[in-house]
Amino acid sequence: MSAGYCTWHRDTAEDVEPIIFEERGSGPAAAVSACLPCANGSTERFPYGKAAQVAVRVMKERAARSRSRARKVHRG
Ligand SMILES: [Zn+2]
Repeated sequence: MSAGYCTWHRDTAEDVEPIIFEERGSGPAAAVSACLPCANGSTERFPYGKAAQVAVRVMKERAARSRSRARKVHRG
């Protein structure tokens, strides 16, 4: 998990991924991050669809892994 700031709902989230890389005149591109619920519901609107789709897939995989870990931890 990579906790961070979700630009879409404007608050921190347990897991965020960069979904858009904003080109700037000078310096490195700025990454705009979103949490899974925001990214998952918005991928169709993003002009940078590929990065957003990858981010959604990565976060879904991480969420699935963390759920399976949680089941083991709380067994019994
Ligand atoms: Zn969000």
